[in-house]
Amino acid sequence: MIYKRNKLTIDHFDVGSIAKKYKTPIYCYSLKKIKKNIQDLKINFRNINPLICYAVKANSNLGILKEIRKNNLGADVVSGGELTKVLKAGIKPKKIVFSGVGKTSEEIEYAIKRNILLINAESKSEILEIEKIAKRKKKIVNVGIRLNPNTDAKTLSQISTGKKENKFGVNQKIFLHLVKTVKKSKNLNLKCLSVHIGSQILSYKPYQSMLRVVNKIIKKSNYNFEYIDLGGGMGIDYDHNKSKLDLKKYSKNIEKFLKTNNCKIIFEPGRSIMGNSAVLITKVIYIKEGFKKNFIILDAAMNDLMRPALYGAKHKIIPIKKINRNSKKSYEFVGPVCESTDTFATVKNYQKLNEKDYLVICDVGAYGMSLASNYNVRPKPLEILIKGSKIQILSKRQKISDLM
Ligand SMILES: *Cc1c(COP(=O)(O)O)cnc(C)c1O
Repeated sequence: MIYKRNKLTIDHFDVGSIAKKYKTPIYCYSLKKIKKNIQDLKINFRNINPLICYAVKANSNLGILKEIRKNNLGADVVSGGELTKVLKAGIKPKKIVFSGVGKTSEEIEYAIKRNILLINAESKSEILEIEKIAKRKKKIVNVGIRLNPNTDAKTLSQISTGKKENKFGVNQKIFLHLVKTVKKSKNLNLKCLSVHIGSQILSYKPYQSMLRVVNKIIKKSNYNFEYIDLGGGMGIDYDHNKSKLDLKKYSKNIEKFLKTNNCKIIFEPGRSIMGNSAVLITKVIYIKEGFKKNFIILDAAMNDLMRPALYGAKHKIIPIKKINRNSKKSYEFVGPVCESTDTFATVKNYQKLNEKDYLVICDVGAYGMSLASNYNVRPKPLEILIKGSKIQILSKRQKISDLM
């Protein structure tokens, strides 16, 4: 994404022309960027040779999943719906792991029927349920157990998952107990220890603490795990100030871990593959004078992009036409939805805007469209993918008639 003669472009496409042609709001993805992000992971973790299972909840568009498959990645799913979708996209069952604290019997049956690589269980009850179904179907099912390592990921509290107060995984004591239970079972095959401590992690240090805990519990369990699934969580540079996770340092820590543990590493990255691959193109509907700042009322809202309202997440908003010499203004960017949390950002010293101007909200490829809703009976936006010199429609804009 660069400005050419002060006009914003994505992979040689002029964003203004896209906005006029397709109408706004639009989720616009770059395949080039997605491929680059996958390549970055592969290169930085080359010495580990991990199985990379894309976390589908970050973005579950079928067109995106097909690109994920073409890049030879597996998938991490958290529901029967996601499992159905990745199979439809052609991802091989032997590259699929199933996570989540509340898998229903139907979902477990489906996963067993499709012979996926791993069901990562998160409680004793779930292990017993998987065993019961496996026994009934006379199958041997590969399972992992998710450990809650009680590690602070130092990220937004809403997207932290590895602390003892979080609902995810089991504590060390239960973990060791479950290892024994599964070892005794004729229908379960214990293959994996999994962890996932949170999302948007920007320092390798929480991962380092996590690896120390994992190392200790493996020793205590005295069991040879074929896979260690380290989850995802690799953070990206939302602030555009080069603050992103140092993957090399993380990799070095894992290399050290592998010296004493002979196993295959699994990663479940979502955000680091999709996050910076898309922008949400939007138009200024009105500009309204407030007490101290002016409100920029956009045609995109919290139903299209929920992260700011849900987590207080920050996304850069940039104009598609840059004006260099211009009086600066203070603006609050908001959507039309009837909620005060329908606010994207408050910015001082922004270039002066006019009604009908186009803007883009940056880095919305992960947890953008996958969290979108029809709140206020607003149709979900169009999604397009820039693919070299072509534009592919990933999903059509919903019509109001679709919502009746
Ligand atoms: C959400 C989630 C991920 C992906 O997290 P990112 O921060 O998007 O990389 C991976 N594994 C599990 C179990 C998750 O719940």
